[in-house]
Amino acid sequence: MQEIKMETVMKKKSGVKTEGLKRAMDHPLKMYNLLCKSHCVEPVVTDAVSQRSNPSLHPLGYAVDLRFREFLKPYHAVEIFKILIGDDYDFIYYDKTKHLHVEYQLFLDMSKKTRIKFMDENI
Ligand SMILES: [Zn+2]
Repeated sequence: MQEIKMETVMKKKSGVKTEGLKRAMDHPLKMYNLLCKSHCVEPVVTDAVSQRSNPSLHPLGYAVDLRFREFLKPYHAVEIFKILIGDDYDFIYYDKTKHLHVEYQLFLDMSKKTRIKFMDENI
């Protein structure tokens, strides 16, 4: 998988750190960029690698927050995005701020497929 050069293709909200972001996040970032560009919307990553008080994949580099509020129909864009991304990721959509939390399914999830993901840089 070719690594995305995020700084060249999309904007980060000030203070957002992408150092330590795992390669598993390249795919959602590429698809988000593609979706935004095709809708003439500026892609903005509102959080990537950060410390959280609650259990989160952000500190581990397996989660990003993406802005959807510039889309004419944000929820519709989120639904398209989910289809583009596939089953390896989980999502939380925050309707108030219209941003999407995207995380790699790192752990076994019995509700979906029996699959164990290991914390490995190369996945
Ligand atoms: Zn998040």
